[in-house]
Order: sequence, then C-alpha cells, then structure tokens
Amino acid sequence: MLTHNESMARHCSFRAGGLAQIFFEPNSIEELSEFLKNNNLPVLVIGLGSNILIRDSGFEGVVIKIGKLNELSVISNSINVEAGLTLAKLSRYCGNNNFYGAEFLSSIPGTVGGALAMNAGAFGSEFWNYVLSVTTIDSQGNLISRKKDDFEVGYRFVNHKHPGEYFVAAKLKFNEEPGKQNIKELLLKRNKLQPIGMASCGSVFKNPESNYAAELIENCNLKGFCIGGACISNKHANFIINNGEATAKDIETLIKYIQKSVFKKYNINLETEVKII
Ligand SMILES: Cc1cc2nc3c(=O)[nH]c(=O)nc-3n(C[C@H](O)[C@H](O)[C@H](O)COP(=O)(O)OP(=O)(O)OC[C@H]3O[C@@H](n4cnc5c(N)ncnc54)[C@H](O)[C@@H]3O)c2cc1C
Repeated sequence: MLTHNESMARHCSFRAGGLAQIFFEPNSIEELSEFLKNNNLPVLVIGLGSNILIRDSGFEGVVIKIGKLNELSVISNSINVEAGLTLAKLSRYCGNNNFYGAEFLSSIPGTVGGALAMNAGAFGSEFWNYVLSVTTIDSQGNLISRKKDDFEVGYRFVNHKHPGEYFVAAKLKFNEEPGKQNIKELLLKRNKLQPIGMASCGSVFKNPESNYAAELIENCNLKGFCIGGACISNKHANFIINNGEATAKDIETLIKYIQKSVFKKYNINLETEVKII
C-alpha cells in the first residue's frame, strides 16, 4: 500500500507529528526490495512507531512501515523472524513453545526491527542477547546477511558498521531451560509503575550512569508539569504523555525544558532514548 501525505500521528504512539510525503507498507521482503530499487527519496523505516517523534514539519521522503513482514519459522533450535513481527507475538510464541528468556519482550510495544535498532530491553534483559544473525536490506534493495559482530551494541544503542541498511529479518536463539520470569507478573509490574494505555513513547530519556532519569526529573519537581498538550506523567516522571492536544513541538519543547532543569540541578545531560525526526 502506498499513500501520499500520510499523517504520522496515526503511526506513532505519541499520536503527534507531521505528514510523510510518501508512506509505504510492503506486503513482503520482495515487494520492499522492488520498491527500493526504484526509489531515490530519503527513507525512514518504522515499526510500531513507539519510540519516535516526527516533527510537525513532517518527513520529506518515504516512510516505510514494515508491520506486514511478520513471518516466523523455527529451524532446529533457532527462530527466524521477519522484522515487522511484534515483540508481544514473539514473546507469546516462545512462551507456548518452550523457548525461554523472551518473557521480557511482552512488555515492550514494538517490532523485531525496532528492537534491533534500539537494543530494546526491560527487566534486566536486552534484545541483542538473543540475536545470532540478521538480514538487512540496503537502499538499492539488496539483501545482505550480517553477523552479530557487524554491529556495536550497548544500552539502548546500536551502531551499524555498514550504515544505510535496514533490518528485515533476524535469527534468534532463546534459552532451553526455564528462568524465573513470568509474563503475567512482568505485565502487572509494568502496569503498576507506568502510565500504560496513554499516548507516549515509553521512557523519553536513557538512564545516565549510576542514576535513574525518572528520579532526577521527579527531584526537579516536574511531575505533572505541562507545555501545551504535553505533560510529564504523574505516575512515572520519565514518561511524557500527549493529553490529546499535543503537537510534536510541545513534546520537543518539554523534552528540552526537562534537560535544562536536570542539567541546572545536577550538571547531568539527559540523553533522549526517543528518536526525534
Ligand atoms: C508504553 C511504552 C513502554 C515502553 N517500554 C519500553 C521498554 O521497557 N524497553 C524498551 O527498550 N523500550 C520501551 N519502549 C520504547 C519502544 O517500545 C522500543 O524502543 C521499541 O523497540 C520500538 O520498536 P518500534 O518497532 O515501535 O520502533 P519505532 O519506534 O518504529 O522505531 C524506533 C527506531 O528504530 C528504527 N527502526 C525501526 N524499525 C527498523 C528496521 N526494520 N530497520 C532499521 N531501523 C528500524 C526507526 O527508524 C527508529 O529510529 C516503550 C514504549 C512505550 C510506548
């Protein structure tokens, strides 16, 4: 499916943001490859849009949403997944088929591609711990097999040694023995601590070394503080909520205000986890 001037507020969990000049949802990797071969515009690949803020001026180029690339297959002890598969589905599949260690993914609203790009993590686990290899696609539509060491991976950080490629699939290996984590308990814990169900991008800032961003923000007395329609959650100070009226500008201005306040009080630079585009 290809559309013009698509509102990105419909595709980002912040429910704010400008228009994509072109918006494309491929049905298969082959269709994506064909499209890229004929494309000269700048590309932005997205999953569920749960960690991006697209400015109100929009994206001049093509936004490619890969949610329909969502096949999963098992080959001996590893799982092959396409990048559009949601983490919730992957986690549920693992839970029902004796693959252990994927429980934490049930609490992260994203796709495999987004988790690869962000090294998504929760409750002490990170996505790249379970990656054996990935398949990427370049801007000319060529498919490439990449090893784990083609990427430098850290806390919510992934650096491609070959930039300009997008994730289309991954080979994953989970544990064979059950651990201590339980999906129901993790979801309950998350619902207790976070404003789930409201328009947000999850944690806006990375935790600085030996500190919690939420605690620093709370100590600046910012819980509940709003700029336009963007408010700092009363439940979790590292979450910004769109109360329904926020523009991307409101959200970005609030992000900058928080950074300034924390720097003034603690001399600490809060780095955003959310990608501002
Ligand atoms: C309520 C809530 C709770 C959250 N909790 C957590 C949490 O506990 N832990 C955590 O880590 N995150 C959390 N997040 C943030 C978010 O869910 C994760 O970062 C997730 O991995 C983003 O996946 P996505 O598919 O939505 O990616 P998007 O938001 O669509 O994209 C994020 C980035 O990845 C890039 N990208 C996406 N797909 C691809 C691809 N196929 N190839 C190359 N680049 C790609 C995009 O260009 C963008 O730069 C939370 C978000 C919300 C709203």
